[in-house]
Amino acid sequence: MKNFFRKEILSGKVYRVDHDEGVKLSQNECPWDIPIDLKVKITERLLKTDWNRYPLTELLDIQKKLAKWHGVLPDQIAVANGSNVLIQALINVIPRSSKVLIVDPTFVIYEMQAKLNGNKVIKVPLSEDFELLTEKTLATIKKEKPGIVFIPNPNAPTGTLFDKKSLHRIIQAAECPVVIDEAYYPFTEETVISWLEDFDNLIVMRTFSKAFALAGIRFGYLIADPDIAPQIEKFLMTFRLSNVTLAIIDEIIGNEDYVKDYVSDIVKERGRVFAELQKYDDIRVFHSEANFLLFRVPNAPALAQQLMTDGIIIRNICNDDSLKNCLRVAIGAPEENDAFLDALKRHM
Ligand code: PMP
Repeated sequence: MKNFFRKEILSGKVYRVDHDEGVKLSQNECPWDIPIDLKVKITERLLKTDWNRYPLTELLDIQKKLAKWHGVLPDQIAVANGSNVLIQALINVIPRSSKVLIVDPTFVIYEMQAKLNGNKVIKVPLSEDFELLTEKTLATIKKEKPGIVFIPNPNAPTGTLFDKKSLHRIIQAAECPVVIDEAYYPFTEETVISWLEDFDNLIVMRTFSKAFALAGIRFGYLIADPDIAPQIEKFLMTFRLSNVTLAIIDEIIGNEDYVKDYVSDIVKERGRVFAELQKYDDIRVFHSEANFLLFRVPNAPALAQQLMTDGIIIRNICNDDSLKNCLRVAIGAPEENDAFLDALKRHM
C-alpha cells in the first residue's frame, strides 16, 4: 500500500478539528450567524435554485461582481470553496522544486500544504513582539530565491498588523508571487489591493469565513494580475462551487452592511478581553488587529485542558519555539467572553 502514495503524503497528517461541546472560541469564527432576515431571503432564493444543473455562468457572475466591488478586472479574480483551497492551488501551480517562504509563527496551512506537495519551506522568524524583521526577510528572499511567499496581514495566530512599508519592500524585492492573505482585513481595513496596479507578482487573498460570518458556507477568493489569476484558476475545478454557495454569495455581496456592525462589536469586545488579560501578572497578551488574541501563560497545555474541562474551548497552539506556552482565544459574543474570563479567573 505504501507504494501507492508519494512519501510526503505518507508522512503528512490528516488535518482534523475535534468537535468539542462548549463555548467554542477555537476557530476564529464570527460568533453570530448572518442576520435572520437576510438568511430568510437567501433561503427563499435557494428554493428557486436548480440543484439538478451544473453551475455554468453563476461562477463567472460572482467573479464579475467581485471585480466590480474591488475595481479590478474579472480576469484578476479566482474564487474557491475557502481560501485554504486557494493556498493549496497556489502551492500546486509552482514547481515542486521551488521554496515556499513564510514568516514564523504564521498560519499553519502554508507549511502543511507546501510539505504535502514536496516543496521546501523557508521560515523567517518574526521579532519577539511578532513584528516583521524586514532586513532579515529581505536578505532571506535574496539568498533563498523562493518560488512563492505567504504573509497574512494581520498575521495569524499573532494578530499583528505588519508595517506597510516593509510589505512594500518585500513585494518589490521578491522575484516570485507574494501572497498577502487578508483573511482578517475587515477588522483593520488595511489593504494592499491598490498595489496590484504596481506589482504583477502581488496576490491578495480574502475569505468570507471571518467577519462575513460564513465559515460554514466556504468561500474565498484571490485578486492578482490578469496574467496570474487564470494560471491559478487552471488548478481549481470548474464546478468547485455549488449553485447553493454561488446563490448565497450573490445575495451577500451588496447586502454586507451587517459586517460593519459585527466588526465593531468584536473590536469592542477584543478591547475588553485584552484589558482583562492584561490584569494578570502571569499573562502576556499580544496586541491584535484581528478577531482573536494570542497570550502567553506559565503552562499553556495545562490551562487549555482546565478551560476545556469547564467547557471553554480555546486553541492550544504552543510549541517549543516561537509560540512557547501560547494560547489563542477567538473573540466571541459578550457572554462567551465572560464565560472564558470567569473560567480563566478560576484557574490562574
Ligand atoms: N488564512 C488565514 C490567515 C486564516 O486564519 C484562515 C482560517 N483560519 C484561512 C486563511 C482559511 O480560511 P477559509 O475558511 O476561507 O478556508
